[in-house]
Amino acid sequence: MDNGEFKAAGVCWDLSGLYTSPDDAQIEIDLTEARRCAEALAQTYRGKIESGQIDGPTLARALAEYEAIAELQQKPAFYASLLFAADTQNQRAQQLVQHTREAATDIENLLIFFSLELIGLEDAQAAALLTASEMQDYRHYLESVRRFKAHTLSEKEEQLLNQKNLSGKQAFVKLYDELSGSLRFPLTVDGEDQLLTDGEVLALLQQADGGLRERALTTFLETYAQHALVLTAVFNNLLLDHKIECEQRHYDDVVTPTHLSNEIAPHTVEAMMQAVERHFPLAQEYFQLKAGLLGLERLKNTDLYAPIETAPEEISFAAAQDLILTAFGKFNPQFAALAGEFFDKRWIDAEVRAGKRGGAFCAAFSPQHHPYVLCSYNGTGRDVSTVAHELGHGVHYLLARRQKLLLYDAPLVLAETASVFAEIVLTRHLLDKADNPDTRRALLCDVLEGMYGTVFRQTALTRFEMAAHAKRQAGQLSTDDICDLWLAEQAKLFGDSVEMLPVYRWGWSYIPHFIHSRFYCYSYPFGELLTLALFQRYLDQGEEFVPGYLQLLESGGSQRPEHALAQIGIDINQPEFWDKGFRVIAGFLSDLRAML
Ligand SMILES: [Zn+2]
Repeated sequence: MDNGEFKAAGVCWDLSGLYTSPDDAQIEIDLTEARRCAEALAQTYRGKIESGQIDGPTLARALAEYEAIAELQQKPAFYASLLFAADTQNQRAQQLVQHTREAATDIENLLIFFSLELIGLEDAQAAALLTASEMQDYRHYLESVRRFKAHTLSEKEEQLLNQKNLSGKQAFVKLYDELSGSLRFPLTVDGEDQLLTDGEVLALLQQADGGLRERALTTFLETYAQHALVLTAVFNNLLLDHKIECEQRHYDDVVTPTHLSNEIAPHTVEAMMQAVERHFPLAQEYFQLKAGLLGLERLKNTDLYAPIETAPEEISFAAAQDLILTAFGKFNPQFAALAGEFFDKRWIDAEVRAGKRGGAFCAAFSPQHHPYVLCSYNGTGRDVSTVAHELGHGVHYLLARRQKLLLYDAPLVLAETASVFAEIVLTRHLLDKADNPDTRRALLCDVLEGMYGTVFRQTALTRFEMAAHAKRQAGQLSTDDICDLWLAEQAKLFGDSVEMLPVYRWGWSYIPHFIHSRFYCYSYPFGELLTLALFQRYLDQGEEFVPGYLQLLESGGSQRPEHALAQIGIDINQPEFWDKGFRVIAGFLSDLRAML
């Protein structure tokens, strides 16, 4: 049987808007020209910015030249990364990724002086430059490059730190990656002894057989636990390293660098997290409902993602396109029209192919070029949501195209404002038209589990991380200390609604965010709740909401998140604002309760 239509056969993107092929002579021409311009820029401006020899209008011209170089320099690497994602086994693509990356790094090195001199400016100098009308478009860029100024050390110290990081912090991260990448997990599946990879064993947590799910999580975490000595040492060292670095850089708190890089005030994040914690009972209520659906007294950790639908229907790619564009169109015609371009103009690669990169993404590098979406479409409901999510990112990028390159990307906490919104718009449309109660129930569980994972779980993860850093201030943590802190935070989230398996005390050990990007986890609930709150506003205000929302998307990365939101009348420092997001979750929950 040909199931091509369920695998999006033939839905491949057209990259010819960038280059005609990996052998296009224009690639080399662009890189050479970028390099020539970078040298010229350095020749003209090096040493002149920090020393106050140029005025505002001249700096604005220099920034425009800088953007033009970035555009030329990034385009070849962007093209190569897309070719590679579509076919990771393609040697030509692999070579091109390497070649364009090296060339881009070379050019970046020529340009490093530029941001360093901008950071080096005295505050009064920067303020004077910003009085020029030509600089207004770059105001946020200048402010954001300079936001770490008070925490930047001397050039010599920065170099020394960088070098020592190779054998310090980075060596521990690398050790963790190599260790976790080397782990294989023994499990008997269908009477056969197997050694599974992490991807394979975690996929079993979605299986219908509860015994299998429990054995899968147990072998997964027990295998990590066997490396307790190394994992504990890595964890302790990274905590200590960060403690020292914060002291040296005069940060008042270990979370401050993350807040600063997210351009969010600490009290705003705290208000958001407390709002989530006030609503832990919503998550607990969902677990009780799900236990009922599975015919269980109480859920175990391993039942959280158990499937409840036995034979979900397959959806062809054409049907998915139709569902998504209809749903978007009900929200706003422009939103639907922009998303439609991805299908009409072949900006999306959805076909399932061997060698294609896993997962899904929407990528863009410059307002001069449209974004591209990649996913592997398998015909499940989850896949339809994924396409909607990535198209939401795509619409966001398209709307932000009036921004300059340096201000194009939305800040992290606003980056999901269109994608998550697009998913909810789709879910509402699917719920409206679902006539079968099984489908409706599965849909509601799916959306609620997604929200649990993003909002509630990631908040508990962040609290654990904060607790570990706080405890490390007083001294080295033992393995048991770390496990106990983990369980304590998880217990607050689950209450009595979930039975924690003894092996779950190792739940912290496999989460790469703690190792790679400290306190990153809070950006998930922040972005999701913010978007849910925006969606609730849409439900409250109707049509009137739309222009402000589109304006927010158009603002790209041109403002601090707080300011961009204030422009459309939203104050994220009001605790009530966060509560709005929970009304959406509570709404889905009560729909589910009503069905049982
Ligand atoms: Zn996303």
